[in-house]
Amino acid sequence: MPWQRERSRFGKNAAGGYIVEKEAATAPRAFHVMAKPTGSACNLRCAYCFFLKKEKLYPGSSFRMSDEVHEAYIRQLVGAHLTDRVTVAWQGGEPTLRGLAFFRRTIELQRKYRKEGTRIENTFQTNGILLDDEWCHFFHENDFLIGLSMDGPRDLHDAYRKDRGGRGTFDRVEHAARLLQEHDVEFNILCAVNAKNGSHPLEVYRYFRDELGARYIQFIPVVERTGGNGETGLPSGSGVTDRSVRPDQWGHFLIDIFDEWVKRDVGSSFVLNFDGALAGWLGMAGTLCIFGPTCGLGVALEHNGDVYSCDHFVEPKYYLGNILRTPMIDLVASARQQEFGRNKREMLSRQCLECDFLSICNGECPKNRFVRAPGGGPGLNYLCEGYRAFFAHADRPMRIMAGLLHRSRPASEIMPILARQRVIVESVER
Ligand code: SF4
Ligand code: SF4
Repeated sequence: MPWQRERSRFGKNAAGGYIVEKEAATAPRAFHVMAKPTGSACNLRCAYCFFLKKEKLYPGSSFRMSDEVHEAYIRQLVGAHLTDRVTVAWQGGEPTLRGLAFFRRTIELQRKYRKEGTRIENTFQTNGILLDDEWCHFFHENDFLIGLSMDGPRDLHDAYRKDRGGRGTFDRVEHAARLLQEHDVEFNILCAVNAKNGSHPLEVYRYFRDELGARYIQFIPVVERTGGNGETGLPSGSGVTDRSVRPDQWGHFLIDIFDEWVKRDVGSSFVLNFDGALAGWLGMAGTLCIFGPTCGLGVALEHNGDVYSCDHFVEPKYYLGNILRTPMIDLVASARQQEFGRNKREMLSRQCLECDFLSICNGECPKNRFVRAPGGGPGLNYLCEGYRAFFAHADRPMRIMAGLLHRSRPASEIMPILARQRVIVESVER
């Protein structure tokens, strides 16, 4: 039972001295926090960005995490983990806007609160615009893992990733990638797949692999809802904008890249979407929350200490509390958050419950469950058609890779297996 553990907290004894109180509580041994040191503030104006619209939640705010919140965050996060590894995740908005001094302080705080035998890892998602030698030197010295947002080669990247003046940002982001490489900083590419680059899967993938030399890539589908009004003025209808990737387009995108990857890149190029799905075929928990059976272990921390159920649910309805008033672990372990987590499984559509790929997909992320299935009920995932096509297409090679891994063989052995099978098929067809 991953949620269950005995928890200790400080209380006061009758004489006014501090004592350790044990309590039976349901709290996870580890959890993930997406912290936003600048809230949703950003120096770019990417057309599809949903964070920018979140500024409405904090009217008049400076969007700067204070030292008080910063210290409380590190102290509570490190203190609450019962594992030997703690991940501190920074994102935005754009976290570089908070300045390098803030992150030097992060390292000081981590040294102050780190428990013996615990390893602290920092991850940092950025658009790359402000990166220079000093930032990269800092990242290298402190072993930060960087997530660099990039949507493909120049034309495809610049379609939506623009600065405040409406200019494309490709050159600046590519320069940032080169700087990271020069300084030997590990980075992942985070590629938002939209209506434009979604039609050019191999161009996008080959650019990252061959021209940029990126080894770790994650593709994130852009699904922007229209119609209706959410609590923060965000759309909450069942339609999507023209910029959004279409479900069938998403399926083809994954399939085309998968076919190239599985033929020649397994073990040398890492596509997190494929690794995350393969975990399902292995019957294991993967690294991607979207394919997990439940949610709840990844909260969002705003600049002022407010905690929400998930980065995709930063809405008043999903507000859990503030870490300056309530320990973060109590918010993560709260009944509301557990209910949020269980809802992913308990609110599956009928199509999902009858789906052959349920154990792999688990209905994907609840934020995308807003369409009515043809002839069926509500709550189906907008991307379902694409996922079904991809899972059906990848099923056989995924089973082969899962079989190899179960026998302690490297998954990359699939490449010669598939090559031999292709030769046989071709000789039969001749
Ligand atoms: S709501 Fe979506 S993004 Fe958030 S934890 Fe669940 S699957 Fe992950
Ligand atoms: S592929 Fe579609 S029906 Fe199947 S589990 Fe995923 S979202 Fe549900």
